Amino acid sequence: MTERSETIKHNMLSIKQRIETACARSDRSSDSVCLLAVSKTKPISDISYAWQTGQRVFAENKPQEIRDKAPQLDDNISWHMIGHCQKNKVKYVVPFCQLIHSVDSYDLASKINQVASNYQKIMPIMLQVNISGEVSKYGLAIEEIFPLLESLKEFKQIKPVGLMTIPPYQDNPEENRQYFRRLKEILVDIKMKKPDNKTMEYLSMGMTNDFEIAIEEGATHIRVGTGIFGNRTK
Ligand SMILES: *Cc1c(COP(=O)(O)O)cnc(C)c1O
Repeated sequence: MTERSETIKHNMLSIKQRIETACARSDRSSDSVCLLAVSKTKPISDISYAWQTGQRVFAENKPQEIRDKAPQLDDNISWHMIGHCQKNKVKYVVPFCQLIHSVDSYDLASKINQVASNYQKIMPIMLQVNISGEVSKYGLAIEEIFPLLESLKEFKQIKPVGLMTIPPYQDNPEENRQYFRRLKEILVDIKMKKPDNKTMEYLSMGMTNDFEIAIEEGATHIRVGTGIFGNRTK
């Protein structure tokens, strides 16, 4: 084995142990948390090394990277799109992806619906919420969530399954706990007020720096890049 594969194997193990500890602390079973290995900017060989440890769920934040990487790898990888997606790039994502986490507009949803329809596919999506209200280009304001969910009902090829957020980087990750908690409250609110949205059940939140806190606050999908593959140079 190469040194690189040893490093990734070691990192995978350590992240999994940290997930288990956080789950135990919050009285959750560790299979209630889906670990997404965020392989953006990393080569195919890195993905293969993680795959060899049993990892099957990978995420990218650029449509082109999914389009380029997915066909080179095993079919039984589950790909997730977690980054901003322009409408003209939806065609790179829909054929390969199991879940799109980053839907934040009606127009994008409409495009996904149209492309999914071409592939005769029902596309599970999450709504990206700008929960911290920081000046960010992406993500819905909290008050936009309900109206968008309502209007998504017209799209038959889309299935909204949850909420996603990217809070700011904090030196002290505890400072993101409030945002994770808020996202969970919103999900509970959606389920109570809109019993017809019963497919809304997932919370995609938590990255390398703060995933343990996200797990304590109810994350079902955590997105870990640096913790598995090391720092990114691009
Ligand atoms: C890059 C990225 C991550 C992973 O970040 P790390 O800090 O490297 O774990 C998670 N979510 C999104 C949306 C990203 O773009």
